[in-house]
Amino acid sequence: MVISMFYQSTRGQIADVTGAAAIAGGLARDGGLFVPDAFPLLPPGAVETLASMRYDGRAVRIMSPFLDDFDAGELSDFARAAYCPGGFDDAGAAPVRRLTGGDFFLELWHGPTCAFKDMALQIMPRLMTAAMQKTGDTRGVCVLVATSGDTGKAALEGFRGVPRTKIMVFYPRDGVSSVQKLQMTTQEGDNVNVVAVEGNFDDAQTGVKRIFADDGFCERLASRGLFLSSANSINWGRLLPQIVYYASAYCDLVSGGHISRGERVNFCVPTGNFGNILAGYYAKKMGLPIGKLICASNRNDVLTQFINTGVYDRNREFFPTISPSMDILVSSNLERLLYELSDRDGTAVSAYMDTLARDGVYTVGERARELISAGFACGSCSDGEARRTIADTFERYGYLLDPHTAVAYNVLARYRERTGDAAPAVVVSTASPYKFCDSVLDALGRVPDAAGADLVGALVEVSGVPAPEPIAALKDGRERFTRSVPLGGMLRAVEEFCG
Ligand SMILES: *Cc1c(COP(=O)(O)O)cnc(C)c1O
Repeated sequence: MVISMFYQSTRGQIADVTGAAAIAGGLARDGGLFVPDAFPLLPPGAVETLASMRYDGRAVRIMSPFLDDFDAGELSDFARAAYCPGGFDDAGAAPVRRLTGGDFFLELWHGPTCAFKDMALQIMPRLMTAAMQKTGDTRGVCVLVATSGDTGKAALEGFRGVPRTKIMVFYPRDGVSSVQKLQMTTQEGDNVNVVAVEGNFDDAQTGVKRIFADDGFCERLASRGLFLSSANSINWGRLLPQIVYYASAYCDLVSGGHISRGERVNFCVPTGNFGNILAGYYAKKMGLPIGKLICASNRNDVLTQFINTGVYDRNREFFPTISPSMDILVSSNLERLLYELSDRDGTAVSAYMDTLARDGVYTVGERARELISAGFACGSCSDGEARRTIADTFERYGYLLDPHTAVAYNVLARYRERTGDAAPAVVVSTASPYKFCDSVLDALGRVPDAAGADLVGALVEVSGVPAPEPIAALKDGRERFTRSVPLGGMLRAVEEFCG
């Protein structure tokens, strides 16, 4: 096997790493993130070829040039198992719905946990175990996740039953929606564990980071042939599968007769850690005719400010919102964009990251700003505006939006008014509205007199829109994980589970 695709670190100290080593390693040893040496251009006729395939076939075509140390049969098996009709309730896995005129929604929530994290986390554990085999790593993995809601459940489903793997998820006890909580506490599988933390998401995240940095604990694990790993979106194995749905959506628009081949399409993405929208940027680098990538923020609009001014400033107030998966002040995947904006200069990226760590702020240069405004647009939206968008969209079209997707649709409308850019646009829809029944009912003007799984029934009644099967089934689920620990108790919980 001739390998021609290698990876390097955004901080410039590590290079020539294979795809398998990048995925097995997660973070590069210099603290940077792995990026491929090049973005292979889609061959002529790719859109027609891909359009004739199922989603799993599209995934193999897009991913294999990046992973030429995996053989095609292997990738086909993984993609088929990941995106099969049993796991996804739509034959297309990631269908595009036309709402009106040039407004399209790319529904990324037809997987087992009803959020877009499934698109990557259904295949990433398979890539990771294969990557470990290729690199000769025979250890067992203990995956630790701190979650604000969606990642935890998607990681539990993705890693459940994976050999030589255990997964433990910490969520903020009072910081996730009722449905998200039930999804996690009823999780099935023998290698899984879920614990509530008495604190907010940042506390849980800090606790997990502290465990990763605990050398004594890591040595004890190592002596038992185990190591800690994370499932967050800095791993290349999570980013790569996300490029697929941009290409898939474009093919569906062409084959549905909505656009002509080569016509530019804008994508509007509700953004938190910058993983989703970065995958769109990579798809564009591969030659997909994407016009603007519109970055949508909620009230925590640090990215909007960055795109508008070139200043990234995390020294600002944090606001909990009804779109909690976007309540982020440090978007870790932005480092990969910075790398491209600084013409792949690892020294420049290191300098930005050092300044960010020291002062909480950095400013990019003029050339980077020009590149940003050529490729990106942005906007932010308050909770009140997102609620109004949910209500309006439902009233006019009978289509229910979750609060994250509502932020994006609101930002798209205002982008169009401001710029006059009427190009067809795809709103990337990141969660089923049923994951956030409380907020959606509230937006529709209903004060629910229900709680827990009964909220699902209440929203079905109000909207007439059926709930996805995995969420409808929660009312019959058995709660298996009811433990909650103070911050100081997290390490012991991990020791008990992994020991
Ligand atoms: C994770 C998530 C986001 C943010 O995605 P990033 O890749 O972190 O930018 C947006 N919406 C929902 C529903 C999510 O779960």
